[in-house]
Amino acid sequence: MTERRIAGARLRLELGDITRSEADAIVNAANEALVGGGGVDGAIHRAGGPAIMEACRRIGGCPTGSAVITEGGALHARYVIHAVAPRYSGRAQDAMLLHQAYSSALRLADEHALRTVAFPSLGTGAYGYPIGEASQIALQSVARHLRTRTRLERVTFVLFSEGDLSVYREALASLANR
Ligand code: ADP
Repeated sequence: MTERRIAGARLRLELGDITRSEADAIVNAANEALVGGGGVDGAIHRAGGPAIMEACRRIGGCPTGSAVITEGGALHARYVIHAVAPRYSGRAQDAMLLHQAYSSALRLADEHALRTVAFPSLGTGAYGYPIGEASQIALQSVARHLRTRTRLERVTFVLFSEGDLSVYREALASLANR
């Protein structure tokens, strides 16, 4: 399954490079210092140019489980939402922090009246969150937000490998209707 309608909005899965997304905002898997890094963070700063890092420096930082928004620089996306997932520790709080990273990002998207947002798989690269559990938290967090009053019309997960896409497909198929 690669798409599901949830309360009038679309939750969609794609394979690709999020820096090429045409969504109103793309979400970055940032770190607390907002200083850039490898993975999707490095790719976003390379593709978006220095204006994004300058905006991150002005903001100064972002605690785990929260998100901040900057301009999108040279990206097609008008905004980048920088969300900080937990470094996986195996403790119960990881799940809550990962959920909060998603919900903070979605709240910012709504505050800026955005219609479309694209997410990478937060936390499942360098931060080590097992993708099976992380995919369920990711999709449940988005589904929960789409069932609230929201202006969002489409939320897309841009997965970076066939393997990641198939894990998310399974999670989407098993997502409960309520
Ligand atoms: P984290 O530190 O939160 O784990 P990473 O950037 O290391 O963040 O990884 C998060 C996910 O983003 C991983 O699944 C990785 O494969 C993926 N990723 C890396 N580059 C891109 C990209 N250009 N577009 C979409 N996803 C990407």
